Amino acid sequence: MNPPLQTSPGSSRRLRWLLALPKLGIVLLLLAILSLLWLLHRNEVEEDRAALIKDVLWLEQNLRFHLSSNEEQIQQLALEMANLPGRQKMFRLRTEHMLKNAPEIAQILWLDNNRQVIDALPTSIQPDSEIESFGPPVTAKAFEVAKRLGKLHYSEPFFLEGNRAFIEMLVPVYGNDRHITGMLAVVYPLDTLLANQVPWWFTEKYKVEIVDDNDLQYATKTRIEGNSNQRYEIPFDPPGSGLLLRITSYHTPDNSVQRLLVAAIFLLAAGVFWSLWLVRELMKKRSQAEEALRAEHAFRAAMEDSLTVGMRARDLTGRAIYVNPAFCRMTGFSPDELVGVAPPMPYWAPEQLEETYAIHQTVLAGEAPPDGFEITFMRKNGERFQALVYEAKLIDGNGKHTGWMASVLDITERKRAEELARQQQEQLQFTSRLVTMGEMASTLAHELNQPLAAIASYNTGCLNLLTDGKASSNDILPALEKIGLQAQRAGKIIRRVHDFVRKSEPKRAPCLLGEVIEDCLGFMEAEARKRHVRIECDTPPLPPVLADRLMLEQVLLNLIRNGMEAMATTNQSNRLLRIAVEISKSELRISVSDQGCGIAPEVREKLFTAFFTTKPEGMGIGLSICRSIIEFHRGRLWAEDNPQSTTGSGTMFFFTLPLETA
Ligand code: ADP
Repeated sequence: MNPPLQTSPGSSRRLRWLLALPKLGIVLLLLAILSLLWLLHRNEVEEDRAALIKDVLWLEQNLRFHLSSNEEQIQQLALEMANLPGRQKMFRLRTEHMLKNAPEIAQILWLDNNRQVIDALPTSIQPDSEIESFGPPVTAKAFEVAKRLGKLHYSEPFFLEGNRAFIEMLVPVYGNDRHITGMLAVVYPLDTLLANQVPWWFTEKYKVEIVDDNDLQYATKTRIEGNSNQRYEIPFDPPGSGLLLRITSYHTPDNSVQRLLVAAIFLLAAGVFWSLWLVRELMKKRSQAEEALRAEHAFRAAMEDSLTVGMRARDLTGRAIYVNPAFCRMTGFSPDELVGVAPPMPYWAPEQLEETYAIHQTVLAGEAPPDGFEITFMRKNGERFQALVYEAKLIDGNGKHTGWMASVLDITERKRAEELARQQQEQLQFTSRLVTMGEMASTLAHELNQPLAAIASYNTGCLNLLTDGKASSNDILPALEKIGLQAQRAGKIIRRVHDFVRKSEPKRAPCLLGEVIEDCLGFMEAEARKRHVRIECDTPPLPPVLADRLMLEQVLLNLIRNGMEAMATTNQSNRLLRIAVEISKSELRISVSDQGCGIAPEVREKLFTAFFTTKPEGMGIGLSICRSIIEFHRGRLWAEDNPQSTTGSGTMFFFTLPLETA
């Protein structure tokens, strides 16, 4: 027996959990990776910011350094110009030198106390005249402040030449009397300042702007474009006046590796999810298959348990590999006592061991009869039982022949019932014969009476002759011979009756049908005479048939008697009963035809049913017994209307007997 499947409905829940765990793990892993990336990114941003601040501070210091060194030089010049007689020459010399070293300076002016230009270098540059002639109010204001404070002062930024922004540094020039005699003005275009003082590598990374509080841009320098990342502002002091130095950093494009990494992580995660989904589908299918298998197994087990037919499988060597519960019930052995056991099997009857072994070998050779075979088996308690066994090939899933599967039916009861039925049938046949005999008793008595009367009269004749003393042996001899003949005749009648009512086992033996018919006619002669029935018999020379003579006689007598009875109302001249035999290749066909009343359709249906009769004193078992006798002889029995009847009605009963070699 197969072990039950170890799966249960709980296992599918566990499976779902098992499937959910890796999913959860992957989600957590993804989260961890993403947070790591976020932290790295934040660190990077912070580092960027720190670098930005550092760079901004450096730039601011650099600018301040330049401006301060310019401041120092201008202040030195202003100081030296106080009392020198050739100060114009010196102004020119020094400013030229300064302009060479500080390209960020657009122009250096020497103004008198009334803001009138005394000298300017370079002279050709337009802004001077503009400053000189119009001078934006911011420069005038700065001039005034510087004059009043008596020290260096930067102007507020102002726009000239369209959109160029400038600032002006004003340094008072004192005379010998410690009064301000004029002013040195240094004009810085802010864009030039940035262009000269911000190194190229700085602009590769940042955008540098000079803006005021209102976000108004005065100058800018950058070599990159794109999205800004972060910015930092620092007061641009000096020159101050609310100016701010704003540095904006840009995303460097080399974070593509990082992006690639993130994309790869997402791609991998998607891949893992996809493969998990596939696994889930597979698992689902597997659990469905398991479910189907479980149902199938339960169905098979239920089927096995409910089977009343014993099933037994053997491998190619004859070793038992499976027995079902019905087989175990039948034999009384448990599966453990049978499975794995090689022949002789414990349920083989010891007294039939050899025959059983021979059958077993036939089965293993694949020559078991397809219609099954009967065999005697033994239960565990020693009781014998008849089994009907059908053997079939055991084919496995790959189509390979792996053994033999037998279905075993316990037919003991059936056999017993069949035997009982057979005995009853025999009893019935015998009873039927007795009944027939009883019915014929008076006719037979009358029949017997004739030879007995003849014997008596011959005997009286002989006695008379002898008492008279005239008798010669020639006179008595013929009489005695006749007495002997009549005695034989009477004896024949008695022997026939005796034979007919003899109780015997049905036994098929070669017999000549012609003789059987003749015997029957001898039996029925008297009855036919009494009923004024003419019997015609047409039998060709016949080969012997394998039959029970007595049974055939019973059939024929029954059919003849029925035919004669059916003609009770027929005109006496038409009371003709014909017995004919036709011979074909495989069988004899015997017909008994009468010219009687015929069979009504409603009667025809029940003709062969036991105890069906239309006669007041009939028993209705004659035809039913006839049919079972004929079937016992493997023949057929049926009735038809008699087409040759001269009265227009009549019946023909046919039966066949196969021609078999003895
Ligand atoms: P039984 O003769 O005791 O009635 P059978 O079984 O021999 O029993 O016959 C059953 C019935 O079949 C008869 O009662 C009769 O009605 C019908 N039968 C039988 N043989 C003939 C026949 N040759 N012609 C007409 N009817 C028949």
